[in-house]
Amino acid sequence: MNLQLTTMMYHYVRDVGDAAEQGSGIPGLAVREFAAQVDQLAQRYNMVSWDDVRGALLDKEPLPERACLLTFDDGLCDHYLNVFPILEQRHIAGLFFVIARRDANALPPPFKLHFLIAKLGLDALSKAIWNCLSEKQRRTYRRAEARYRLRWQSEPDVVKGVFQRELEPEIDSLLHELLEKHVGPESELAQRLFLNGQQIQEMRASGMNFGGHSATHPWFDFIDSARRDREIRASRKFLLPIEQPPFAFAYPYGGLADDAPALFHRNQFCAAFTTREGTQQADAYYIGRFDGEDWHG
Ligand SMILES: [Zn+2]
Repeated sequence: MNLQLTTMMYHYVRDVGDAAEQGSGIPGLAVREFAAQVDQLAQRYNMVSWDDVRGALLDKEPLPERACLLTFDDGLCDHYLNVFPILEQRHIAGLFFVIARRDANALPPPFKLHFLIAKLGLDALSKAIWNCLSEKQRRTYRRAEARYRLRWQSEPDVVKGVFQRELEPEIDSLLHELLEKHVGPESELAQRLFLNGQQIQEMRASGMNFGGHSATHPWFDFIDSARRDREIRASRKFLLPIEQPPFAFAYPYGGLADDAPALFHRNQFCAAFTTREGTQQADAYYIGRFDGEDWHG
């Protein structure tokens, strides 16, 4: 396979104080900047939908030259409030990777961290977490930290990496307590942060497409194969009432695993999107994407 496709990736799209940001302090791409980017892309590229890309992957219909697909990760309310009106107005179909959350009242670990880092700052948060760790957990932390300094350039990435990986299951209840103390009730935050079923239906009815992004947003290179399988199956179950299979998937954090393509195939996913840049797609399970926040035309 050799598919020429430029895929853009977006996360939070919001302005300070708007209905999506809600004073949380969680930053994102400014709405006007996003709209301007979409207009520039639409001038230079032929905007395509997930249906078009899937058709090309299944060898039905080739893509037009300079094909461009817009994708949005995490199923955030930003995508209904700020992105959907902009795309609808321009007749562009976005592909939205939503999290198959088990509990509508719970925030998966990375989103707890987003709220807490926005409120307390990463330094104060990591001190608060450190103070609650056992000696054994502190040893785990130090060792992982040393290893991740070899992998990531930025110190915040190193610290977040330890929280999202080695300490993920153990600090979840602690993050819950810190949220309730410093930010607000987790159930309310969760219900406001993510797209609800009605919003998804409305977007789908207007031609938007949805893909999988796991249930708990783990690093696929860190968890074991059984959990990867559960995460992918949860996405399939979530998507079945919404979308026509085979589906699309986006790797949480862009974390990769050798067995993931086989698990995707078994669960009716025919494509997976990474966070690595690239326009020549040689493998449907490793499709490259460009981060809209780093894109300057
Ligand atoms: Zn994500």
